[in-house]
Amino acid sequence: MLIDSHIHLDSSVYSQDLDMLILHAEDAGINRLLTPGTSIDSSKNCIKIANDHKNVYAAVGVHPHDADSAQDDYLDSLNDLLSEEVVVAIGEIGLDFNKNYSEVESQLSIFNAQIKLAKDKNLPMIIHNRDSDEEMENCLKAGDYFNGVIHCYTGSVEFAETLLSMGFYLGFTGIATFGKKELESVIRMVPDDRLLVETDGPYMTPVPYRGKRNIPAYVELIAKRIAELRETSYETVAQITTENCLRLFEGMNDKSD
Ligand SMILES: [Zn+2]
Repeated sequence: MLIDSHIHLDSSVYSQDLDMLILHAEDAGINRLLTPGTSIDSSKNCIKIANDHKNVYAAVGVHPHDADSAQDDYLDSLNDLLSEEVVVAIGEIGLDFNKNYSEVESQLSIFNAQIKLAKDKNLPMIIHNRDSDEEMENCLKAGDYFNGVIHCYTGSVEFAETLLSMGFYLGFTGIATFGKKELESVIRMVPDDRLLVETDGPYMTPVPYRGKRNIPAYVELIAKRIAELRETSYETVAQITTENCLRLFEGMNDKSD
């Protein structure tokens, strides 16, 4: 068993063959998937997909790229969506000072508000961080809530240590297969009980499919590469990442297989 802890199943690139992709993943042993929203509409779509597929769970949140376009009542909307049983986390939330698709001020205000929401509801967070380490650390400390995963981790060894010491999990995507030396060092140093795997599909497709559409079944390629880097077996990586995912996202234990 292996879990894809982060995949955007509501992406339009999956709309034609979503059912088949989920079945295909199940055949390959990927029998749980977590799909995070990036806006209120996207969160609603993720909930619908999770309600339609017994192995899919959802998270709800407003992504930093969507911060500028969030409505004034987005927190009320998120609150309403939390009553859905398939929702197991707040995400995808965070900061992105690389693309800067939204103003820094609105990114910060929406991220801080969603940290508070997660804390109030005692839900784990799925966090996006790109070129914003310093503000990320400040926001997390100010929010005084350290429950969640820094997904698609691509940062330094030093910042990984900071996040791990706060209590966060780190999620790794197909970038683990790209031969990036610093990332490989991070993957080797993460403790067994903090490691998660994810496709982040449709983005970040692992080698040998780099450049093509990323699908849930490819999470196995990521886990295999992580096993090589950590000098352990694929089975061990599959087991520890599954245990970690079910510990962090408690709601993923609920639906039956
Ligand atoms: Zn994502």
